[in-house]
Order: sequence, then structure tokens, then C-alpha cells
Amino acid sequence: MPKLNDEEFLQLVEKVIAFHTKRAPGIAVSVEMVNQAKERLGDVPKLCAITETRACMPDAIQFMLGCTIGNGNLKVLESIGRFAMTLYDRKSGKGVRIFVDQNKIDKEKYSELYKFFRRERSEAVRNFGPERKISNAQVVKEFVDCGRNIFSLEDVVIKDTSKPPILDCGICEKCGEAYTKHSPDEKLCLYCSGQQAYYDSVKKEN
Ligand SMILES: [Zn+2]
Repeated sequence: MPKLNDEEFLQLVEKVIAFHTKRAPGIAVSVEMVNQAKERLGDVPKLCAITETRACMPDAIQFMLGCTIGNGNLKVLESIGRFAMTLYDRKSGKGVRIFVDQNKIDKEKYSELYKFFRRERSEAVRNFGPERKISNAQVVKEFVDCGRNIFSLEDVVIKDTSKPPILDCGICEKCGEAYTKHSPDEKLCLYCSGQQAYYDSVKKEN
């Protein structure tokens, strides 16, 4: 059940939207998910989070909980692609998973919200036309109107709570920069070996 009243909730959503820099309905939904999951989990020694989508959700978590990509307390498993998150305690592995329960969205009464999660909104909306803004506002309105109760929660235990290992460092024989070695006999960084050559150098100052 929602803890904040609608006004408090929408004020918090505005703050997260300012951080996210885009007025996306997924932010409003994610804010409520963080609140509900956090309430059920309670205070824990080492709060961590995992999301199952890359869209919107990580920013609500980073802003509201301080679990970030940078501090290693947020993991994004975007390949799963479910609109769900798990908050857990790294010490015990015990956590709460919250997900959008499709059975709790009334298709007739809240059709835009229903279509949003199925990516079935009109083509104009999907193509970022001016209709998208109107639709986004409608999705949030319907989410608030239905009482923000479109979720189900489950208690879970995280299987692997370890942080990724810190690998050895080497000096790349081509660029001369220190980099993470993936095997003992590796000579080049992933950029210089061409495996992750994600840019073309335009001007390099030495
Ligand atoms: Zn290199």
C-alpha cells in the first residue's frame, strides 16, 4: 500500500525527474516501487539493489537510496527486461522483490497504463511525437488514480551477494595506460586489441 499521500508522492517524483532529466512515466512507477519495497524490507545493515531493466528504474534507486553503479551497490540485469527490482541486505542476502503485476491493471479503466507496460501505446507515442507527452502524463495520472497498487511483492534470498573481484592491473603495450588485465599473458587493453574500440581518436595530447 502507498505510504506517501498523492501530493507527497508527486513532489518526490518531480525531484527524481529533475535528476533523471526526462519526464518519463517509469520514474513515477519506480519511485513507488522503491518506497513499497523499502518499507517491507525495513532498515538493513548493507542495503543493495538489483533492477531487471535499465530504463528509468536505476535512477530512482540511485537518487532515493544512494545505491549506485559507482559504489557497487546497484546492479542492473537489463537482459531480463522485467519491470522489477529487488532491494536486499548484502550481509544476509535477504531481500524483497517488487514487480508490476499485470493482473492488477484494469485494462478498460486504465488503458494507457496497461498499454505502457506492454509497449502497446500508439505509433505516434512510440515515435516520440507530441502525443508522447500527453500519453506520459496520462500514464502517471492513471497510476495515481488506481491508488498506485499495481505491484506484487515477494521475499527472496540473493544467491551471490559478493562484489565483483578486483582484477590485476597491467600497462598496455600500445597505449601505455594502466588497465584491468583479464588474463596473465594479455598485452593490450581491450581498446587497443580492438575488442572495445568504442571511439575514433581525433586529437591526442601527450
Ligand atoms: Zn591500450
